[in-house]
Amino acid sequence: MEIIDSHTHWGPSLTMGTEVTSEELLRQAGESGVSRIVIFPFPSMALADEGVNQKVLDEADRIKKFIPYYYIPETMKPIPEGREFYGGKWHWMRGIQDSSSNYKALEDPKLHEFITESEKINLPIIIEEEFAFTEAFIKKTKILKIIVPHLGMLGGNPMDFLAAFKGRENVFFDTALSSGDTLMRFIEKIGHERILFGSDIPFGTMKWELEKVLSLPIGDDKKEWILSKNLKRLIGWI
Ligand SMILES: [Zn+2]
Repeated sequence: MEIIDSHTHWGPSLTMGTEVTSEELLRQAGESGVSRIVIFPFPSMALADEGVNQKVLDEADRIKKFIPYYYIPETMKPIPEGREFYGGKWHWMRGIQDSSSNYKALEDPKLHEFITESEKINLPIIIEEEFAFTEAFIKKTKILKIIVPHLGMLGGNPMDFLAAFKGRENVFFDTALSSGDTLMRFIEKIGHERILFGSDIPFGTMKWELEKVLSLPIGDDKKEWILSKNLKRLIGWI
């Protein structure tokens, strides 16, 4: 069964003073039988120097296992086309990372342009914000493929995210750092087709996160969709 990790951080983090090296990602992938890895820069690095997006591309060019995502800068520049990115990461836009959303970003006229352009580019975007921000954002688009990381855990109560977006076919969720029980409630409600396996290295490990998915009381065919096929479908590989 093919396994793709849909959520890892690569490179240096200025706030944490650490670095996730390619070697470390490959080591964990080797240990867990993961064949491809989505990588994107840490927020602190991308905000200090947008050039790190190019470094992510260069690294993915060097290491074919890597699937590069674009860190969306505070200027709300959409994912550049024709540059080999497979998705984007939107992270607490102009807010306080992992803590509070900046609702003024929702009023910025650039947001409409960003959404319209991103719909055309048709690549998935991981959007991490508070629940109310995410809800307001998702109201603005029916077709942009949005991935809510951690089943929404860092932006509020996952059950609020599930209730609000269960009927929205363009909204996906990743498994990183969630509990197995919460994950099962999502699968019972929306099925396995909108759930993606992710480790969130360095905040989680591939081994632990993978074991969580493998131990779910569902069939292997469904696990395979969560572990790789849903992501492949999102980025146009199947
Ligand atoms: Zn993350």
